Amino acid sequence: CGVFGVFNHPKATDLTYYGLHALQHRGQESAGIVASDGKSFRHHRGMGLVTQVFSREILDGLSGNMAIGHVRYSTSGASLLQNAQPLVFKYSEGDLAVAHNGNLVNAAIERKVLQQQGAIFQTTTDTEIIAHLIARSSKKYFEKAGPEVLKRIDGSFALLIMTDKQMLVALDRHGLRPLSLGKIGESIIAASETCALEAVDAKFWRDVEPGEWLLIDEKGIQTGRFAEKGDVSLCSFEFVYFARPDSVIHGRSVLSIRKELGQILAKEHPTQADVVVAVPESSVPAAMGFAQQSGIPYEMGIIKNPYAGRSFIEPTQELRDLAVRLKLSAVREILEDKRVVLVDDSIVRGTTSKRIVQLIRQAGAKEVHVRISSPMVKNPCFYGVDMPTKEELFANKHEHERAMGKVIGADSLAFLSTEGLLEAVDVDLADTSSRCIACFSGAYPTNLYLK
Ligand code: SF4
Ligand code: MG
Repeated sequence: CGVFGVFNHPKATDLTYYGLHALQHRGQESAGIVASDGKSFRHHRGMGLVTQVFSREILDGLSGNMAIGHVRYSTSGASLLQNAQPLVFKYSEGDLAVAHNGNLVNAAIERKVLQQQGAIFQTTTDTEIIAHLIARSSKKYFEKAGPEVLKRIDGSFALLIMTDKQMLVALDRHGLRPLSLGKIGESIIAASETCALEAVDAKFWRDVEPGEWLLIDEKGIQTGRFAEKGDVSLCSFEFVYFARPDSVIHGRSVLSIRKELGQILAKEHPTQADVVVAVPESSVPAAMGFAQQSGIPYEMGIIKNPYAGRSFIEPTQELRDLAVRLKLSAVREILEDKRVVLVDDSIVRGTTSKRIVQLIRQAGAKEVHVRISSPMVKNPCFYGVDMPTKEELFANKHEHERAMGKVIGADSLAFLSTEGLLEAVDVDLADTSSRCIACFSGAYPTNLYLK
């Protein structure tokens, strides 16, 4: 998912709309904006893309000088309007809205406890728990209750919580998801990625630190910590696939890291070939890096229909299969009689690779060598990236690369090593520099509360 918030700007709602538009790659199922004029909320949410959910008329109805917005792709809770965010509540202090990117690993436990205490839930998302915890906090006033509640939730969360007059920005103690701050004059902007700051012409201010909260209101900005500085576990998949290439996370350009992943991949798994081809758009930088390193020319051998969405984010396998077919086509001119290196950023279920190797062969390629710019995904993600169950993961269905290559119809298949991934995404975070690689390695940075 993607979150975006604006404090103290006369065009808060419009800016949020543009910000969400720039974060659309992070979720396409639903979008929502909540605005406050300092006294009360106006909000609108709907299923679909930002441009489908909001019209000029609707935006004009959401006046206010502060706003938060959300684009969703579901990992916990079904793809339903009632689960669309920001979630909006009435509580003892007035209005409350929550926009959350991530996934709470202790959600089931906390939900049960709350239900036993009499809470009634309106949604099936983990995010609703946060609102209940705030409403039931023993601390009086949102400015105390909000930060306090952050201690009770575990997992990944880049959070924007708004009341009629205040905004709370917080990032989980592991820093699993990106969350950046910007400024437009005196106005404060919070966004999942810096590309959304660029979109509204905000000046990058800084990243939110893991375990940090900021409470913003007319008195100014208070900051504090709900967790000690500890190990940082930024999601490495943000660099591999999820984030937009023009974003900068913890000082590192996503584009340059993606290129580096491709370069390292070429060093680890060289091959004789005539052209390097990417699966657009997400693997273009990695394919360019592979081409640079290997000296094999990069060509646009596959074209993407710009009107098709991201196939992975489609909620069912049928939709995903169809989406891949509608999305990508091969260019015979480039591929006929060639030995092709096909670079993709990841194999999750294997849907994409299988289909594309087929496409490339149909276009007349002599050989297809598939190179993946991340290690094998063998474990589900519990932190908000939609991975299927362990059994559905392609890498768990087959013994080794050779068997997998056969299944997708490739002449050879190779994955980046975990060491190679870490070398490229070795982000420099103040005093520690670890990142989450759990879906590759199986080592999760948090308790999973599975039993
Ligand atoms: Fe990212 Fe994988 Fe960790 Fe999930 S498990 S947060 S996708 S690195
Ligand atoms: Mg792709």
